[in-house]
Amino acid sequence: SVECRNIRLSYGKTEVLKDVNINIEPGEFFALLGPSGSGKSTLLRLIAGFNRHNAGQLLVDGKDISTTPPWDRNIGMVFQNYALWPHMTVWDNVAFGLVERKLPRAEIRAKVEAALDLVGLSQYAKRRPNQLSGGQQQRVALARTIVIEPQVLLLDEPLSNLDKKLRVQMRQDLLSLQRRLGITTIFVTHDQEEAMTTADRMAVLDHGVVQQIGAPSTLFDYPVNRFVANFVGTMN
Ligand code: ATP
Ligand code: MG
Repeated sequence: SVECRNIRLSYGKTEVLKDVNINIEPGEFFALLGPSGSGKSTLLRLIAGFNRHNAGQLLVDGKDISTTPPWDRNIGMVFQNYALWPHMTVWDNVAFGLVERKLPRAEIRAKVEAALDLVGLSQYAKRRPNQLSGGQQQRVALARTIVIEPQVLLLDEPLSNLDKKLRVQMRQDLLSLQRRLGITTIFVTHDQEEAMTTADRMAVLDHGVVQQIGAPSTLFDYPVNRFVANFVGTMN
């Protein structure tokens, strides 16, 4: 589980997360929705350990990890800009985390093959990132994160660069993989349809304030305020 308790975070004088309380259950596929600038990426980076909150607690499986550095968290994150190593092949980008963990070579090969197969890029293994489209690079970033089988998976709009068809396909693949591995996943998206069709539950954020948390159907049928109604509903 991932539990945010009374989390506050400021950049300088500007408070970007305001008393955030979210409790994500083990194995849940949880969507974080909100307009641009509402604090979605900030919250993910905080959970990953790249941002430090000013107040509150962050617990993973009941343990407060507020002061644990990112590399000791066993949390995988796909960033919005999915920076890949430009000088490495697709294969090496995906294998990187496994090589670092000193896994046996045969195991690395099997895991990388499975991850590349999942994102449909097996035939691109020898290319470098600049020889791929944006959507393909995004899929490499996804493969690179999934391959290490993290305890918690954080996805910051991992499908935003894909065309509609591929997006829908990847969304289903991602969900079935998530179900198979049972990884607790937090998924940021602008796309309410994406959240509605995949998430177990979702939170809607506005200006750093959680407006509502619940199952997609609950937010759709019983929005607590006009903002949620507009954001989740068909009016958007
Ligand atoms: P988007 O949908 O556009 O990705 P977001 O919900 O992910 O938006 P954040 O990136 O979390 O939004 O940003 C929240 C707010 O914090 C914004 O107003 C942004 O300008 C500000 N912000 C983000 N990073 C920093 C930073 N390093 N220093 C100062 N302000 C920042
Ligand atoms: Mg963002």
